[in-house]
Amino acid sequence: MRVALDVPLPRLFDYAVPSGMQPASGDRVTVQLGRRNHTGVVIEADIASDVALARLKSIIDVRSDAPRLPADWLELMRFLSTYYQRPLGETVVAALPPRLRSVKPLPRKALALGDEPGASDFVPLHELTTEQARVAEAIAAKLGTFAPVLLHGVTGSGKTEVYLQLIACVLARGAQVLVLVPEISLTPQLEARFREAFPRTRLALMHSALEDVARTGAWLAAARGEASIVLGTRLAVLAPLPRLALIVVDEEHDGSFKQQEGLRYSARDAAVYRAKLAGCPVILGSATPSLESWYNFRQGRYERLELPHRAAPGAEMPIMRTIDLREQPRDDGFAPPVLAAIAARLERGEQSLVFINRRGYAPVLTCEACGWCAACGRCTAHLVLHATDRRLRCHHCGAEEGIPRSCPTCGNVDLKPMGRGTQRVEETLAARFPGARIVRIDRDSARRRAELVRTLEGLRRGEGDILVGTQLLAKGHDFPHLTFVGVLNADAALLSTDYRSAERLFAVLAQVSGRAGRRRERGEVMIQTRYPEHPLFQALVRDDFARFADSQLDERRSAGFPPYVYEAALRAEATELARAIAFLRAARARVAPPDTVRVFDPVPNVITRRAGWERAQLVIQSGSRPALQEYLGRLSAVLFDAPARGVRWHLDVDPIEFD
Ligand code: ADP
Ligand code: ZN
Ligand code: ZN
Repeated sequence: MRVALDVPLPRLFDYAVPSGMQPASGDRVTVQLGRRNHTGVVIEADIASDVALARLKSIIDVRSDAPRLPADWLELMRFLSTYYQRPLGETVVAALPPRLRSVKPLPRKALALGDEPGASDFVPLHELTTEQARVAEAIAAKLGTFAPVLLHGVTGSGKTEVYLQLIACVLARGAQVLVLVPEISLTPQLEARFREAFPRTRLALMHSALEDVARTGAWLAAARGEASIVLGTRLAVLAPLPRLALIVVDEEHDGSFKQQEGLRYSARDAAVYRAKLAGCPVILGSATPSLESWYNFRQGRYERLELPHRAAPGAEMPIMRTIDLREQPRDDGFAPPVLAAIAARLERGEQSLVFINRRGYAPVLTCEACGWCAACGRCTAHLVLHATDRRLRCHHCGAEEGIPRSCPTCGNVDLKPMGRGTQRVEETLAARFPGARIVRIDRDSARRRAELVRTLEGLRRGEGDILVGTQLLAKGHDFPHLTFVGVLNADAALLSTDYRSAERLFAVLAQVSGRAGRRRERGEVMIQTRYPEHPLFQALVRDDFARFADSQLDERRSAGFPPYVYEAALRAEATELARAIAFLRAARARVAPPDTVRVFDPVPNVITRRAGWERAQLVIQSGSRPALQEYLGRLSAVLFDAPARGVRWHLDVDPIEFD
């Protein structure tokens, strides 16, 4: 019998089966490896081992406390393991919730059997608009076959109601639906909306912030087919779903669908593969589709269905314009029209949102006398000044220290904060609008999830006049009283060297802008910039995503970037940069690429040092996916084979982060 175990080696382990036990592939088993017991998953049950029977250890136990992992799930794991170049054992075991990886019995509470899936019991909140109904019908007609659909709907176009309508169709057939969302724990309204729409249907919620028992229970309910709706973050794509008939990936462009450690999978791409295995439609929903999905649509691989208008009666898209900073005086970072717009909202009792994608007080603390800047000792990065608790913090490694009384190089006592973050903006607004209720929302103000959820609920009820926030505020929130959005520092992203930064900026600005005027009162959005003529802003204010996406694709094509080439990165970290580079160079020298694969020179990362590790990477590109995969397979075989002393390395296939 051949078993997948969670060890950092690309091999499986053989065990003998004692008489009386009949493990099949997909069973969880307890086996001994070294001196410890492990939970493994049987990959092949009837197999003649190369190891003599007498030398094989026997399995200790076949676990019957959870359903056997089905064949299509094992196939998904094989695919992910090969595609993302991680050992199958690690892939399989890491895909299980923590309690199922443990050799200890499952918690009894999680094991409680639920009801059989009930009949469909859909309670619609709204009658669908003609547009929504047309889209829902088009997708419903595809149920039962593999069909990737790009649901391109502007913010507030009512994509959720379309999903719910389709889910009702699937439930009526007695099947299961998987719904992936970027962040669920911050948007309890979404979960509430699902529960309210299907009051008698078992819904399994899956995200990493759940405690163990709840997570195990949800996984079991999904795997046993009892939960008809599985709603979760990226990890939910790894749950066994015996009756899967529809997958929804909401906000499919969101970067959080890509895992950034271990098996670096894209849940969106895995969802498309799963839909293919299950022979069912997969809906990729977004107001700003990823360029990968847009490209697939342009190539005719995905069908695009459009929701170009807001769904609620009378709701219109906000009026957007840029404020040219070259022509405006600035007052603590604010241009006069933005301040005037906020003042007008205060007068009318409406809410404003000031968006600045940087937390803390100021990104740099500097000495003007000698040019010293507070820097992190462990990272290539400045320390960010936090005024509320008077600390300097590194946003890359979490290191923190007190604010020095004077400049450590020249002794000057007049240290100056440069630039601004949310705390400083909050301070400015408080001074300017005394009496206004200002609510700051970023990862510092929202250390605890429950607290953040309460604050957001309050804002929805109108508690708060001015919101200051980072992109934590951009996603999925619906603030009925919000009618104005001001964007402060959009330009920084325009100047970035990362070819994906324009795509990201467009998405985040469309999302924050989408918070404005979602009811009868039309919203207004002002974006402060020094480059108002930039095509990105031009497309944004005209709400012309198609033009923006097509022009980005043109740029990517001529520059030779994804999606026109397939890409992977080999990354290495060591205590000395030279060592990381030497490792990459040696790897490159040992595995010769075919003509169709291009392996670039190793280069240090932009943030070269992080948490004390020096980092470098090399990029691998090919116009052919199979050629790239074949090369990566050989490369990782060599790398896994030779222990790399003092170097941590990983491969990232279809990478999206390069810092
Ligand atoms: P999206 O996810 O596309 O941004 P939502 O699904 O959040 O949009 O819907 C936006 C708003 O429109 C919600 O307040 C929702 O209740 C409302 N809405 C959706 N569909 C309809 C409809 N058919 N009639 C009236 N209001 C609707
Ligand atoms: Zn100094
Ligand atoms: Zn640091």
